[in-house]
Amino acid sequence: MKNTTTTLKILKELLFRNILNILFFLLAIFFVVILKKTEIGQVEVIFLNVGQGDAILIQQGNYQILVDGGADDTVLYELAKYLPWYDKTIEKVVLTHPHADHINGLLLVLKNYTVGEVYYNPVEYPNLAYEYLKDTYNDILVEIKSGDVLEYEDIYGVALYPFEGEKIQEKNVNNSSVVMLFVLNGYKVLLMGDAEAELEEKLLDYTFLEGIDILKAGHHCSRTSSSISFLSFTQPTVAVCMCGIGNSLGHPHYETLEKFEKMNVQYFVTYRDGNIRFRF
Ligand SMILES: [Zn+2]
Repeated sequence: MKNTTTTLKILKELLFRNILNILFFLLAIFFVVILKKTEIGQVEVIFLNVGQGDAILIQQGNYQILVDGGADDTVLYELAKYLPWYDKTIEKVVLTHPHADHINGLLLVLKNYTVGEVYYNPVEYPNLAYEYLKDTYNDILVEIKSGDVLEYEDIYGVALYPFEGEKIQEKNVNNSSVVMLFVLNGYKVLLMGDAEAELEEKLLDYTFLEGIDILKAGHHCSRTSSSISFLSFTQPTVAVCMCGIGNSLGHPHYETLEKFEKMNVQYFVTYRDGNIRFRF
């Protein structure tokens, strides 16, 4: 009898101790989850190596902006490396212009993620993917124009082109690219889409572009972009060329890389350097 009472007493004590342990464990998990949710974390920009094409992810915590989506499904694999596993929402998407190497991958992103809005410049251009985008996602398409702002915590993005109120149908659709300046925790990141020298010239009135930190150089570092006058004006510290290895256009053109070297601009090329990530 005495033995049974002692055993019961020990069992009771063990149970009591374990209940406390279990409670403590649950409480710890609760705090970890809550803290993880409230911690916003650093802001980052990642130039995704999607072959010949652009796909640029800007994110802070659970908030993402994706500028272009590359030419194929590579973007899905690259995004999965950086987005939190539980996050299937991309808040904002920007399509700079409807060329295949910018829009095709975006359609797959739209299929696989919940997207808040797709900002674009509604130029006319014969491309099936573009037609599909306009037909299928009309409810989330938003026309973007200079002065429009995308903002969240340490992310401040402003559209510089197309100009508000200006309706120009460029023959060369590269020069209809949406140009965005992002200020990420104070650092200036200029995304040129496929803008060439003609469009660069139109931006020379924006004095706040004098001295930027990162330039996503226009049109995959083609010789027709990143003019001397634009580079002298913006004085980027770093330039990024988004190119696929052995691409048929020969990007990046050596003339552009030479200009970077002459002007002391450090440059990265996605096919050589892979995903290029900056955290601020
Ligand atoms: Zn392109």
